[in-house]
Amino acid sequence: MTQQELFGTTLEEMQQALLPLGFKKFRAEQIFRWLYEKAASSFAEMTNLSKEQRTQLENNFTILPGQLKVVREQRSTDGLTTKVLLGFPDGNCVETVLMQHDYGYSVCVSSQVGCNMNCSFCASGLQGMVRNLTCGEILAQIYYFQHSLAEQGARVSRVVVMGSGEPMLNLEAVLQALQLLHADHGLGISYRNMTISTCGIIPGIATLIERGTKINLAISLHAPNDELRTELMPINKKYNYADVVEMAERYAQTSGRQVMYEYILIDKLNDSEEMARQLVTLLRRKLAVVNLIPANPVPEKGYRRPRPEAVNNFFQVLKKANINVTVRREMGKDIDAACGQLRAKSLQEK
Ligand code: SF4
Repeated sequence: MTQQELFGTTLEEMQQALLPLGFKKFRAEQIFRWLYEKAASSFAEMTNLSKEQRTQLENNFTILPGQLKVVREQRSTDGLTTKVLLGFPDGNCVETVLMQHDYGYSVCVSSQVGCNMNCSFCASGLQGMVRNLTCGEILAQIYYFQHSLAEQGARVSRVVVMGSGEPMLNLEAVLQALQLLHADHGLGISYRNMTISTCGIIPGIATLIERGTKINLAISLHAPNDELRTELMPINKKYNYADVVEMAERYAQTSGRQVMYEYILIDKLNDSEEMARQLVTLLRRKLAVVNLIPANPVPEKGYRRPRPEAVNNFFQVLKKANINVTVRREMGKDIDAACGQLRAKSLQEK
């Protein structure tokens, strides 16, 4: 008999799935809490169910967090960043990162196995896209860390969908996962503490506007003009950067949420003051903040880190023009922090 995966289902879906076993609605609610509030990874932990009910559940369903394999794990020397390569039952694996900040723990999750957007600075796309993740697989990455944090009385308080994959191309699964994290009997994470990052898939942003979501939106911009952006991010040919910024600004206005523009600074490629001035022209008077990210070297692509003076000069041009700007705090630099590098290494070794 094939077992059905329970992790990632909504309360209503869970109630439907449990009905044939004779489980009442309140039982489904108890199981929902075990999975999403208490981060249980096995039915054996569900002590308010009878032994018989737990056996029934074990025979018919699986719980993904209990089946994850840690293929690799890296911890930064300062102990604040942990990156894991998590393996799913079908043998595919994705990277997930836990970061400890002053304000709490945040988890960066992947939304697809690999990616086919081919951004030139990114290791995630090196082997193309394999498949979309399910809602349960997206959620399980957070609960992998939540399980051990709960033992220390801590919890995940922020989630960013910024790992491997383009979330807007797997939007329904991503939104369902975020909804379950927000649910009353889940972790109750506020939408203000969730971010979806896109390379600029305009229909995806339009869907967020239509649905009236309050989730933070981040745009991977990385270049302030057509030529360079197409070189760095081929998706620019389909969804031009200026149109992306226009749609993102619409999202900012309707959601009231400032849009974050991610800008990876790569040595001598996009880190000049002239580029900074072009960025000012693009984002002036927008509800926006620019996050400058000094590039992690991607050896496969020959990209180097920018010089500290270049980062500072770029920052100053934006600041003087009254553009909100931050430089990303360096976290996990010593652990192949660029997205996709851990998986790429593991695949190479295979
Ligand atoms: S940066 Fe994001 S969208 Fe671009 S290839 Fe990497 S994972 Fe895909």
